[in-house]
Amino acid sequence: TETPLTDLEIARNAAMKPIGEIAEKAGIPEDALEPYGRYKGKIDISRLPQKEEDGKVVLVTAISPTPAGEGKSTVTVGLADAFSRLGEKTMVALREPSLGPVMGLKGGAAGGGYSQVLPMEEINLHFTGDLHAITTANNALSALIDNHLHQGNLLGIDQRRITWKRVLDMNDRALRRVTVGLGGPSGGIPREDGFDITVASEIMAIFCLAKSLDDLKERLSRIVIGYTFTREPVTVRDLGAEGALTLLLRDAFKPNLVQTIGGTPALIHGGPFANIAHGCNSLIATKTAKKLADIVVTEAGFGADLGAEKFMNIKARQGDFRPDAAVIVATVRALKMHGGAAKADLSTPDKEAVERGLPNLSRHIDTIRAFGIEPVIALNRFTADTQEELSVVLDWCRENEVSAAVADVWAEGGKGGEDVARLVLGKIREGNAFHQLYDEFDTFEQKVNSIVRKVYGGDGVLFTDKALKQLQDIEKRGWDILPVCMAKTQYSLTDDPGILGRPEGFKITVRELIPKLGAGFIVCLTGDIMTMPGLPKKPAAMNMDIDRDGHAVGLM
Ligand code: ADP
Repeated sequence: TETPLTDLEIARNAAMKPIGEIAEKAGIPEDALEPYGRYKGKIDISRLPQKEEDGKVVLVTAISPTPAGEGKSTVTVGLADAFSRLGEKTMVALREPSLGPVMGLKGGAAGGGYSQVLPMEEINLHFTGDLHAITTANNALSALIDNHLHQGNLLGIDQRRITWKRVLDMNDRALRRVTVGLGGPSGGIPREDGFDITVASEIMAIFCLAKSLDDLKERLSRIVIGYTFTREPVTVRDLGAEGALTLLLRDAFKPNLVQTIGGTPALIHGGPFANIAHGCNSLIATKTAKKLADIVVTEAGFGADLGAEKFMNIKARQGDFRPDAAVIVATVRALKMHGGAAKADLSTPDKEAVERGLPNLSRHIDTIRAFGIEPVIALNRFTADTQEELSVVLDWCRENEVSAAVADVWAEGGKGGEDVARLVLGKIREGNAFHQLYDEFDTFEQKVNSIVRKVYGGDGVLFTDKALKQLQDIEKRGWDILPVCMAKTQYSLTDDPGILGRPEGFKITVRELIPKLGAGFIVCLTGDIMTMPGLPKKPAAMNMDIDRDGHAVGLM
């Protein structure tokens, strides 16, 4: 048997159209396209035409994933190409890959097989520089804070209570805690600091929720960077830094246009972590795609318990739009894992394990239904899946009156996604009863409880003493009006990554609350959530190289 082509080889063999042609296909006027090389461009949204009716938003989410991912990006891209093939004017909106996971575990994040966005190498490596701009804006703020301390600290910032950290777009555990300001009086004021990965920066979350440059500036000004000696919050507005930060982000804030292998226009813009932040591409990209296309296919990170919940409760709320359909990606592999199969055995046929794993899928179906949307299941086919295993899932869906079809988009591109696309079109035609799970005026505890009960299937929430104290402070300042951003492991519906399937009778422990006033949510930390990941024993970077022609090698 031949070895199958890698994602990178498939991407390199694909014929790309010049970005001008893709823009034209998307209805973007020439003077609104700012080309970055031949196959990428930024869009000046102030020059876009107004369309009568906004496009429909299709959210792609997933069951609780295996560490390798269940193919959400792959299905998102393939499904969009399927809609295009069916004659629908379609656009994809995706997150920008972070170099941390690219060099660490995943090696690339632009879809897979024949469902990828192009140019794959560039999208995975620096792209149009947005993440670097966000890194720079974040670290400019750090520099301004340290300079403020050094120049006399007029605001009375307590250097032990600065919550703003520096960032880097890399997995680098050695930088989690650092000491800055060493070297005597000329080196500034010594203090403890630390690095997060860029995608965990509040600036990334803000970038992805801002509606306009003005809104971006307003949100940046609300960031709390720490507290004074009298325990009062200090904001970016107090430092007067919001103008400079907005300026540093001006060009990055324009959505990036690229294409899928099937030639569908794609916007790839922003990419916040789905644990500490909300895990969706920028609102501006989603809204731009809605203005240009009739169908927008977009993705939210991790499983429906994290990504979809935040897409609905945070992004759709702040962005003032409604999702028109939701697709849950399931794989035989992940279901087997939830059914108790060992990670090494996920390619070995095991119909019974698939069956035992179905409750995890059913939990995520209940979640989407809790938002008033009837989901479509896309069963992402891997070559190792047997027909019997696929039938277990499809039969179960039929018996439970859930729409489901196999998505063979990895092997076949858009053609393999047409069955799922037709089911989704049916749901869009039917309409839905979308609603958020909680009201902004609910108490903070009610908000968290509704997520734990209606999304995780748990019994309630416990706050540690520390979190309770923080909650009192948050309520005193009136910040509890904001939505909740849960930071929880993606592997389990509980806060313990080892508990798979569909657990019941558990409580979630909230150990810390972090107000993110710029982003406009309160982060609820549960379990051990990493904001600066480390590299694994054998990083994906070790397989990377460059060939004689300057092409990438080993980007998966
Ligand atoms: P997610 O978005 O859920 O993290 P991705 O779409 O990025 O997942 O896919 C993760 C990896 O799995 C990619 O390397 C992709 O090529 C691979 N993959 C996805 N679907 C399939 C499939 N059906 N068969 C084989 N490999 C797949």
